[in-house]
Amino acid sequence: MRSKVVVGNWKLNGSLASNEALVRALLRENPRNGLAGCAVCVPFPYLAQVAGLLRGSAIAWGAQDLSRHDHGAYTGEVSGAMIAEFGTRYAIVGHSERRTLFGDTDAIAVAKYAAARRAGLTPIFCVGETLEEREAGRTEAVLARQLDALLQSGGAGGLDGAIVAYEPVWAIGTGRTASREQAEEAHAFIRGRVAAKEQASIAAQLPILYGGSVKAANAAELFAMPNVDGGLVGGASLVAEEFVAIWRAAGAAVKG
Ligand code: PEP
Repeated sequence: MRSKVVVGNWKLNGSLASNEALVRALLRENPRNGLAGCAVCVPFPYLAQVAGLLRGSAIAWGAQDLSRHDHGAYTGEVSGAMIAEFGTRYAIVGHSERRTLFGDTDAIAVAKYAAARRAGLTPIFCVGETLEEREAGRTEAVLARQLDALLQSGGAGGLDGAIVAYEPVWAIGTGRTASREQAEEAHAFIRGRVAAKEQASIAAQLPILYGGSVKAANAAELFAMPNVDGGLVGGASLVAEEFVAIWRAAGAAVKG
């Protein structure tokens, strides 16, 4: 049976002082909420600090991106191996902000995914449609294109052991959340696509997180859906009480 996990995406936010306060609040919650997994994906310069605070706890940490290259003359890039040296478990790949603001194409997202695998990181592979694509009835076609780029790539190693995050672009940072029915429909489509293109057993085990304005107020209803295995949480992961409440909702959904 799949469990539930909540992953915070801090984006371009944080400071040494605010990170410490936030992480300490999560650590206080940790013993009480062992049922659902929890992780925070932090800016690169804070990996060492967050690793130092979280090491030995059940809370994992991750990066928000990585280079598709392993080393060389790529000024400003950060490799998967560098990230992994801090005991990091996760790397977000193909986030819509990377796709729309920084030119990450499907091919680049797949190359970064493969780089994360080479470094022993668990990729959190993000897919999702824009509002225009949804309104044109192209949601499934877009998800299929994004997934197939990965599933048909020889070098990426498939989705076994990875995580997918369904993040409708129109719901990210907008306060507009997909309804639980919309989320469930998209997640079921993703699982079906992975079963058809890869293997039914891999699809059955695959955690598929929902991301897009998840908050304490809507987490329980989203996490109650059978194909929603938790959340990738942006803005609300920066507010300790809010993120803890989302984590509790995931724990309650595991208990059923
Ligand atoms: C995200 O950044 O992945 C995200 C889902 O952001 P938010 O929760 O703020 O919509």
